[in-house]
Amino acid sequence: MSKQSEPANLMETLVALCKRRGFVFPSSEIYGGINGFFDYGPLGAELKKNIRDCWWNDMVRRRDDIVGLESSIIMHPKVWEASGHVEGFTDPLVDCKVSKQRYRADQLFFAPVVVDGKTVGYVSALEGDAIEAELQAAAETLKRKRGIQGALATVQPRDMTQAKSDEIALIPSPATGEPGSLTPPRSFNMMFQTNVGAMTDASSVAYLRPETAQGMFADFKNVVDTGRVRLPFGIAQIGKSFRNEITPRNFIFRSREFEQMEMEYFIHEDADWAKCHREWIDWCKDWLLSIGLPESHLSEYNHPKEKLAFYSKGTTDIMFKYPFGVQELWGVAARGNYDLSQHAKCSGKPMEYFDEATKRKFVPHVIEPAVGVDRIFLAVLCAGYAEEEVTDEKGNTEKRVVLRLSPRVAPVKVAVLPLLKNKPELVARAEEIHRRLKRKYAVFYDEGGAIGRRYRRQDEIGTPWCVTIDFETIEKDGTFTLRERDSMAQRRIREEELFALLEEKVF
Ligand code: ATP
Repeated sequence: MSKQSEPANLMETLVALCKRRGFVFPSSEIYGGINGFFDYGPLGAELKKNIRDCWWNDMVRRRDDIVGLESSIIMHPKVWEASGHVEGFTDPLVDCKVSKQRYRADQLFFAPVVVDGKTVGYVSALEGDAIEAELQAAAETLKRKRGIQGALATVQPRDMTQAKSDEIALIPSPATGEPGSLTPPRSFNMMFQTNVGAMTDASSVAYLRPETAQGMFADFKNVVDTGRVRLPFGIAQIGKSFRNEITPRNFIFRSREFEQMEMEYFIHEDADWAKCHREWIDWCKDWLLSIGLPESHLSEYNHPKEKLAFYSKGTTDIMFKYPFGVQELWGVAARGNYDLSQHAKCSGKPMEYFDEATKRKFVPHVIEPAVGVDRIFLAVLCAGYAEEEVTDEKGNTEKRVVLRLSPRVAPVKVAVLPLLKNKPELVARAEEIHRRLKRKYAVFYDEGGAIGRRYRRQDEIGTPWCVTIDFETIEKDGTFTLRERDSMAQRRIREEELFALLEEKVF
């Protein structure tokens, strides 16, 4: 029997679980860590690899119209001039001169405190789910502390990019609570710079890529000339990207080194881009469901026309309900033919495609689904985590922590458990099945402790099945006990049935 509940602070609980069980560690922890960088431990590395493999198999290998690419992380700096990143890959930055804290201006909110129609001060707060309520409460506190009488108006939050120049000096810094220390917003380029070669002058400046997409555009001609591809077709890539985010936060959701899975789907210039865009949004959503994310946590956000880049035809983000709010998980952008045209212009090399049917040359248009592996990783953990109160046959209740991960992504697929470790026949049979399983699957062998406790250890890391080798296995019909993580139900299973089950569920 089980009763499910959610912990009060899911993020804190997950961060602790990730550390305790070896999913994610802060990078360079022995030196105090480095903000915005993370290491994936033994289980995290498996989970991440499974996410990547599922995507690659479904996106590239199981389709006839998409090919893969692995381009270099450091590219010719002209790539980033052509793409617009040198000029425009910026976030608005606000400094607090007293605390030396830095904020993204569009994530720092403020509001005038208006009493009886008169502005009596300002309040500020960092972006969050309840920003209005937080600012209203701060406004009430300010009014009370200053002993101001009268009717307090409902706050009207704005972010710092919308602050008028005479307001900036009056807005309190979130770090100090006092006004006067915030600077006006200025543009901050998020690309990490480095130098290539022995010289460190302007001619050697290069960048760590802030997205993988430009590799697909720069190699477009190479792929067309060698890849036996015909429009419409896609080029997909998985790889690390780097952004010097002003405020990395929410654990691995926004970090400075992260991994992207991007695909550029090239279509005819006259193709129905809106239809293709919609098809890719649906594909991405279906794929997220296939790795176990619940539909109830997914939604769509259409970027308003006036906020789109001039070349963009439309961008829809697939949003996920994280514990810290509904946030972008996967962006699906219709980018016209801007990127290829820019590279043609800046490199002087044609980026056209020759259409055999019409005998015409043109620059293809593109639909780009772009997602972060780390954001999927976090979504999978958030959606999968559950705490349950379970009652055993003797009527004792205890807490069970379970990660309900899809077998497709679970870091360990099966745990092999001999019932008793001091019975050589049980251990020998368990080792044999372990050997066979691990040729194909990530398996865990555990002979230590009471069987119930071993099941719990696997529940906490999301292992979908445990097989126990018991006396029935060796004395009777050779079957094992198969214990399912979610239902905790147990049944007998033959070895070939176990392999068939895995074949069906782990793909
Ligand atoms: P955001 O608005 O959240 O900064 P973005 O719109 O700049 O994201 P894109 O440039 O569209 O993001 O990147 C594609 C995908 O890469 C995002 O949907 C996200 O999943 C992932 N991503 C982007 N920035 C980060 C980051 N700093 N850390 C982790 N993942 C990221």
